[in-house]
Amino acid sequence: MSDQPTPMMAQFLAIREANPGALLFYRMGDFYEMFFEDAIAAAAALDIALTKRGTHLGEPIPMCGVPVHAAESYLLTLIRKGFRVAIAEQMEDPAEAKKRGSKSVVARDVVRLVTPGTLTEESLLEARRHNFLASFAQVRDDAALAWVDISTGQFRVTTCPLSRLGPELARHAPRELLVAEGTRLEELAADTGTALTELPGGSFDSTAAIRRLSSLFGVESLDGFGSFSRAELSAMGAIADYLELTQKGKLPLIRPPVREAAGGAMQIDAATRRNLELTQALSGGREGSLLAAIDRTVTAAGARLLDRRISAPSRDLDEIHERHAAVAHLAGDPRLTAQLRDALSRAPDMDRALSRLALDRGGPRDLAAIRAGLTQAASIAAMLGDDDIRILAQAAKDLTGHDELIDLLDEALVAEPPLLTRDGGFTASDYDPDLDETRRLRDEGRGVIASMQAEYISETGVTSLKIKHNNVLGYFIETTTTHAERMLAAPLNERFIHRQTTANQIRFTTVELSELETRILNARDRALEIEREIFARLVRAVLDRAGPVGQAARALAEIDLQAAFADLANGEGWTRPEVDASRAFQIDGGRHPVVERALKRKGEAFVANDCDLTAGDTPAIWLLTGPNMAGKSTFLRQNALIAILAQAGAFVPATRAHIGLVSQLFSRVGAADDLARGRSTFMVEMVETAAILNQADDHALVILDEIGRGTATWDGLSIAWAVMEHLHATNRCRALFATHYHEMTSLSARLDGVENATVAVREWEGEVIFLHEVRKGAADRSYGVQVARLAGLPASVVERAKEILHTLESGEREARPQMLLDDLPLFRAAPPPPMAAAAPPASAAEARLREINPDSLTPREALDLLYQLKELQ
Ligand code: ADP
Repeated sequence: MSDQPTPMMAQFLAIREANPGALLFYRMGDFYEMFFEDAIAAAAALDIALTKRGTHLGEPIPMCGVPVHAAESYLLTLIRKGFRVAIAEQMEDPAEAKKRGSKSVVARDVVRLVTPGTLTEESLLEARRHNFLASFAQVRDDAALAWVDISTGQFRVTTCPLSRLGPELARHAPRELLVAEGTRLEELAADTGTALTELPGGSFDSTAAIRRLSSLFGVESLDGFGSFSRAELSAMGAIADYLELTQKGKLPLIRPPVREAAGGAMQIDAATRRNLELTQALSGGREGSLLAAIDRTVTAAGARLLDRRISAPSRDLDEIHERHAAVAHLAGDPRLTAQLRDALSRAPDMDRALSRLALDRGGPRDLAAIRAGLTQAASIAAMLGDDDIRILAQAAKDLTGHDELIDLLDEALVAEPPLLTRDGGFTASDYDPDLDETRRLRDEGRGVIASMQAEYISETGVTSLKIKHNNVLGYFIETTTTHAERMLAAPLNERFIHRQTTANQIRFTTVELSELETRILNARDRALEIEREIFARLVRAVLDRAGPVGQAARALAEIDLQAAFADLANGEGWTRPEVDASRAFQIDGGRHPVVERALKRKGEAFVANDCDLTAGDTPAIWLLTGPNMAGKSTFLRQNALIAILAQAGAFVPATRAHIGLVSQLFSRVGAADDLARGRSTFMVEMVETAAILNQADDHALVILDEIGRGTATWDGLSIAWAVMEHLHATNRCRALFATHYHEMTSLSARLDGVENATVAVREWEGEVIFLHEVRKGAADRSYGVQVARLAGLPASVVERAKEILHTLESGEREARPQMLLDDLPLFRAAPPPPMAAAAPPASAAEARLREINPDSLTPREALDLLYQLKELQ
């Protein structure tokens, strides 16, 4: 054998080379085959068999394959595992290739590059989440981020300096981020689980961008969409270029870009989102997140909108008020709300159907989805009537005016069309006379065959004679071989033409039968052809109205969201918050929606708590103390969540809430908690804290939970203390600060606007009982030892710990805060731990015990410690 690759291999290698960086799915009949390294990687990722086929340069070629009909699920696995896949299809009928000569190969080409950010298939997408493709561009000192969801057509852009890229990525959580070659953003992208795709610098050329975008939108000039900076154009242009590259010329239906003003939304960075578990729980899933607890939407588009609103609460007072007015209106009319929700639940995902139709990946069911969606839209608009609530009135307007398209689809489509266009059968009868006629011919042909069989039986006298059909012979007449002699002799042999003899059967045809067969086949093909034309016409009709249909889809999502908020408010007893431009933050009877839900499942009640952080000329900071497990973190987070909900347009879990617009929200947890999740270190905690101190403005809301506890006691206290002073003197914002450093409570006497609060516990027969009540004032003691007992520390250790604690407390508890106050600023010199002097002569175990701070121990650490103590004994 020579080393020359076979013609097919040569074609494969050429396509492979033209599509670097992607696995190549190479279509061969009913399979997509992969070869060489692709096969090795894919076989491992998909857990499928790796085989060999032929040789290349003397080596066997590794190969694996997936059946075309099951390709989607394999694709999904590959995309999730970080691959991109180029799909090379056969571009002609294999018969055509044969005509050119026995050696010639079927023409193949890549029709699509599948990447995480460019999915459209229902089975590859999560219905209730957006699938964003983002692009970050830098032009001189200017930078911008653009993002698009090609499955729904949403396209946005905003100016975004590198320093804000982290929070912006956290907000949209794009599946894929395009950057110019050499831009180092791996860490940021990894932080939000985004796949990074580097494109050549040319893709980001801002002049080429104008041309690309004009062609994407089919316009002469982009002026009609507003004015964009060079960086914004460059970011959007790279997206347009990438779509062309991945969709191979079939352009998706993208709505004109909307420019988002920087500062339109409450700023929430990635750490805060994680920490507050806004759309994802710390465990990784949606369950346990705020989103899961409050999602009462009944449509996928409504759920996506909820996700967006929670991820980007508004800072526009008019917008917030209008949304609250809509929720209030619907909450006041539960019957209407129930009716709306019932109708909405029958409206399919029009956005995604529309995008598949535009990309030529749609089928009859997508047309049916548009029909059902628009039909529901019309009846929902009728329910809303002449509402004077602006959001609802606008939505009602967008829902109407689609009658012509509904009628067309109604007339043209059967009630439940099949998934694929290929086999036809989706067009209703009475829609196209030509089609009806051809279908009649096709079906009649089948009837004629039955009468033909009866005629032949009487003619031949063979009662077992049958007319049958198979793929090789088509229609044929069959008798058993016992009648062979009779059938093959005159006069019957003049009419019955012998075709085949098998062991038991003998088969014939007749001139009439083959003519009939041709007529049936022709009619079938013709019917399919007519249906294909009808499909194309209907798709065009839908796409001609893509704008208004998209608007109706958005209106449905908006109504769904408002109705879901109303239902939530009524069901959970939430109230309309008052939001204004002040620096108020007054929550009466606030609750944590996620914790409350979890408790309810266990049959326990949540204790509601007030919070007043109203800042006037002074900042407003609450310093919260109390033992572990008392409910400090819950209280901190619930207030942040209430601010988010209020500005996202929802009602809030409180009896009353007055909130001055929150511009930025920050939330940090001390490193000890983070360590338990294995994701962070004290260093990260400090970096994140620095970010807050450097960024928080006077309209920010800051939540700090046990900052400083990731280090030794005195370091930790010093840091916490200094952070608090900085927040007070420089950021001057509203803040909640939980700490177990009781020493800090003395700060309230020194700093205006700082108040102490504590989560109450009661001691009863030596046990702590958590009351979960937040009260003004400082915690009188820490109860760490009691909590350690609850965790299962042996009684002897608990008793000993109590003794030691007593000694420590009587020694310097009073002196410590005074000393700190006298000694400011703190960083000059860390005082030697005075506890050494107060302690009794130390055994190794006691020395170890002295080092620990029970408040900062997790039960697991307490147990480990116990083992250590035992060893030291
Ligand atoms: P801390 O931060 O003080 O250690 P957490 O806020 O983590 O405490 O709360 C510990 C547990 O106490 C929570 O998981 C919850 O079950 C319960 N809890 C907290 N706050 C409340 C409340 N207001 N009402 C009822 N139970 C609560």
